[in-house]
Amino acid sequence: MTFMANLPPTQELQQKDAAHHLHPFTDTQELNEKGARIITRAEGVYLYDSEGNRMLDGMAGLWCVNVGYGRKEIQEAAMRQMEQLPYYNTFFMTSHPPVVALSEKLASLAPPHINHVFYGNSGSESNDTVVRMVRHYWASMGKPDKKVIIARKNAYHGSTVAAASLGGMKGMHAQGGLPIPDITHIDQPYWYGEGGDMDPADFGLMRARALEEEIDRIGEDKVAAFIAEPIQGAGGVVIPPDSYWPEIQRICDERDILLIADEVICGFGRTGNWFGSDTYQIKPDLMTIAKGLSSGYLPIAGVLVSDRVAEGFIAHGGEFAHGYTYSGHPVACAAALTNLEIMEREHIVEGVRDRAAPYLAEKWAALGDHPLIGEARSKGLVAALELTPDKAARAPFAASKGTVGLICREHCFNNGLVMRHVGDTMIIAPPLVISNSEIDELVNKAAKCLDLTLADIK
Ligand code: PLP
Repeated sequence: MTFMANLPPTQELQQKDAAHHLHPFTDTQELNEKGARIITRAEGVYLYDSEGNRMLDGMAGLWCVNVGYGRKEIQEAAMRQMEQLPYYNTFFMTSHPPVVALSEKLASLAPPHINHVFYGNSGSESNDTVVRMVRHYWASMGKPDKKVIIARKNAYHGSTVAAASLGGMKGMHAQGGLPIPDITHIDQPYWYGEGGDMDPADFGLMRARALEEEIDRIGEDKVAAFIAEPIQGAGGVVIPPDSYWPEIQRICDERDILLIADEVICGFGRTGNWFGSDTYQIKPDLMTIAKGLSSGYLPIAGVLVSDRVAEGFIAHGGEFAHGYTYSGHPVACAAALTNLEIMEREHIVEGVRDRAAPYLAEKWAALGDHPLIGEARSKGLVAALELTPDKAARAPFAASKGTVGLICREHCFNNGLVMRHVGDTMIIAPPLVISNSEIDELVNKAAKCLDLTLADIK
């Protein structure tokens, strides 16, 4: 069956979709009323829908299509691997060439103290894996009571039971009785929303020291790890003050707490280095990866594990009773390896650091002058706009938070731009290959949609 030729009419697709397809993070009643937008193809940084509309994808899918759409080389690598060996597992002492090659490549890209990788299929699974892995590590080291994992409010680490528990989204916790035991949450380093009159550097230190207070409250001998995204993505692109990460690193080192960096969004070039941990010069014991690993072309994810942790449980722990049927899937590994080869050959990470990020930073900052914007912030190729009725007070919109953001998002869709809203914060994370003229287009469209939003709420 071909999905492109003889495409049924949009309405028919929407009706069938609403009738049979339960979507993630979607209100099904609303879906029934409005119908889904049907995306049919994509090229470079552009998406095309079933009505022929072209949209600049300001979110790289879900923060993942780092090398842009339409890369034949990845498609061909996957096809070749399908022919050679479409599937075999990596359980019980078996392996295959693509997983060997990808593991070696990841060890070479990761910081020098990280040389091991454990595979899964999604960021959520990777974060599930770290929960079990850090507890297994401490038990192997003779400290089975070190079980508690400290995470942050408003963090997003995925949707499985353990990953949603690590996450700090209240709405997610409310559905299903989360979090599971032995996971606690401290406040986030969100200066714009929570910093009040404090200097950002002081605020960053204060929020980092909340970790120390939480360790003291629980007891160091009970705490296994702290997990955080270098930049909180789904929480609204929360870029921490520069004082934050060095203080977190100090606390983890002094208190013998493992540091887990969730690199699912920040990994593979998003912040202008291979990993967000490189950008913030931290030395995590574990890093969870997904999304940009294959640029979303096939599902693959993993946990990058430091020598300290790997050697600890290899030497003392016996078998790690954990794994997924598709851990290190050969076709996904072949696609990921080709994706990373493209990133290296085209110097995509350097391109973000030296060209695209500074260019976007300048244009994006200028949006801060718009009457609706309280703050325009960016780091690498991830950025946010805070919508506000009162710039000076950094005030949120009072009634039904998120409504103005939603209005803005709809204007973006209708004007050929995908920009996401988190409440009244607008966010972007475009493909890393976006050109300067495409950045101009993105920013100009965003400005137009801010004008349209302002006109609507006046
Ligand atoms: N961690 C972070 C920081 C994420 O942003 C996401 C997804 O957006 C996840 C984990 C979960 O990844 P997945 O959707 O692949 O399970």
